[in-house]
Formats: sequence, structure tokens, C-alpha cells
Amino acid sequence: MSAHTDRTPQSAVTVIGLGPMGRALAGAFVDAGLTTTVWNRTPGRDRELVARGAVSAASAEEAVLASELTVVCVVNYDASDAVLRRPEVTAALKGRTVVNLSADTPGRARDAGAWAGEHGVRYLDGAIMTPTTTIGTPHGVFLHSGPKELYAEHKPVLDTLGGTHTHLGEDIGRAAAYDIALLDIWWTAMTGYMHALALARAEGISARELAPFAKGIGEILPPAFEEAARDVDAGRYAATVNPLTSAASTMAHIVHTSEAHGIDASVIRAAEGLTRRAIGLGHGGDELARLAELLGRRG
Ligand code: NDP
Repeated sequence: MSAHTDRTPQSAVTVIGLGPMGRALAGAFVDAGLTTTVWNRTPGRDRELVARGAVSAASAEEAVLASELTVVCVVNYDASDAVLRRPEVTAALKGRTVVNLSADTPGRARDAGAWAGEHGVRYLDGAIMTPTTTIGTPHGVFLHSGPKELYAEHKPVLDTLGGTHTHLGEDIGRAAAYDIALLDIWWTAMTGYMHALALARAEGISARELAPFAKGIGEILPPAFEEAARDVDAGRYAATVNPLTSAASTMAHIVHTSEAHGIDASVIRAAEGLTRRAIGLGHGGDELARLAELLGRRG
């Protein structure tokens, strides 16, 4: 099937939500030659897309009726619920497919999946792991979950967004679970970086002076991630490189230097506190991977 010439329902798509990401998605569909209908709560956000060939719908109901497939990309599930659960929109969606690319928790994704099942809406959840500038390029990363056959049916249209698309399983909450875990890495790492920049500047080192060395730290993370993943899955924690006693000592130096400059050390204090808890439980000779096991303990 050629996406550029075929105007069957499969090559028509609706996009609901025209924030920066929704606009990027709709733009990529337009560029791929798909008949693209768009709607946004606040009118006027579709001007540039319409100039490029998108069709502006007067209501969310009209938008979903225009295509077999509706891609939703709004701020969170409160927002997608506010649109999709309007009775006239829910009725219009019966028998059609929604791919919800809005970010939220796995629990909210499962709740939306249950709602969709009750209302005859065919439903896939997804997460976008890369910025708007990657959409329509080979660099976008999309995660999907939900019924495998439904995903396979709509994959040709999703593929027109470029990048890599991975179906993670039938559990509708799985894409959101990956998203949350990956964002956990991003936000804690970037907060650590912001703290490091404040600390460096207090020591008379500019952010730009530190940056090349910070990049060096970034480059040693991928093999460290792989090794920790192998250890955590194998339940293998005995230190081969850096025992927790040594890690805690380094963390304390960061805390002391921060506090000497009057800089809030709460992020590194949290890491040090966890490490010392593990040491207190007799794990001082283990690697940092032990913290994943400790944090995962229940009760
Ligand atoms: P926002 O997260 O700011 O979302 C803006 C969109 O949400 C607008 O269309 C806005 O409509 C809509 N919205 C907010 N509240 C409501 C509501 N109550 N009812 C209906 N619509 C509502 O912008 P983005 O486009 O950047 O992000 C969309 C999603 O994509 C988010 O979940 C985000 O986490 C995710 N994402 C974004 C990335 C990015 O680089 N921007 C990267 C990866 C994921 P209105 O214009 O009327 O306010």
C-alpha cells in the first residue's frame, strides 16, 4: 500500500491535541501524504498544519469520525479523558481505534484500557521517548502496548512517523511502565547534573568548563547500565569494582562540599542515605546494584 496515494480509511488519521508534540505528529502524517484531520481544545493551534494540508475538525466528535485511527497526544490522561469520555465522542469512537500517546502512569493507562473495552473502543497505549524534533526522522523512539493484532493493523500508519516503534506486550500499561522507568533515569540524572553545575560554579568552575568532563561521565554510563542490569536480574551483588562502603564515602564528600557552599544537598543525601541503609543491613561489600534489590523489598 502506498501511503501517498491510497485514501482508504487505513491511510487517514486523526490527531487530537496540538501541543508541540501533537503538532509534530500531525505534521509527520501530513508529510507522509496521509489524510490528516486535527482537533485541539483551544482553537487556532492548527493554522500552520491546515496550511500544509491537514483538515481542521470543528469538534472532537467530528475529528474521530473522520478516520478509523485517532492518535491522542495531550498533556496527560486527565486531559485525554476530558476529550474521549465525552458521551458524543465515546459514541463516535465505537469500533474505531485510539492510540493514546499522552504520558501518564501505568495505572491510568490500564484504567483507560478498561474504559475502552467497556465502550467498544479499540485501544492501544504508547509513549514517545524523544523530543518533537525527532518526529518524522529516523531518531524518534516510540513504545507501544496493547492488543498485538490491533498494533499490527495500524503499524503502517504509525511507521509514517519515522523512528523505531516497539510493541512491548499486550498489557496496556506496559508502555507507560517503560516510560516511567526511563523518565526516572532522566530526571534523577539531570537533577544530579544541575546540582553538579551549581557545585562546580561555587568552586569557580563554569558550566562550560565542566561540560567536556561531564560528557565523559555520560560516556561511561552505558556499559555501567548494562552491567548493573545483568547483576540485578541475576541477583548478583558482591562488589568487583566499587563496594558500597567506598561509594558512601565519595557521596559524603559531595554532601560536605555542597553544604560548605550553602548548596542544598538533598539529591545526593538521598543517594547517600540509601547506600548507608544498605551498609547497615550488612551489604557494605556489595556493588550499587544492591540498592535496586533493597528498594524493591516490600514490607
Ligand atoms: P503538553 O504536554 O503541554 O500538552 C499540550 C496539549 O494538551 C495541548 O493540546 C492542550 O490543549 C492539551 N490539553 C491540556 N489539558 C487539556 C484538557 N483538559 N482537555 C483537552 N486538552 C488538553 O505539550 P506536548 O504536545 O509537548 O506534549 C503532549 C504529550 O507528549 C505529553 O504527554 C508529553 O509528556 C508527551 N511528550 C512530549 C515531548 C516533547 O518533546 N514535547 C516528548 C515526549 C513526550 P490546549 O492547547 O487547549 O491547552
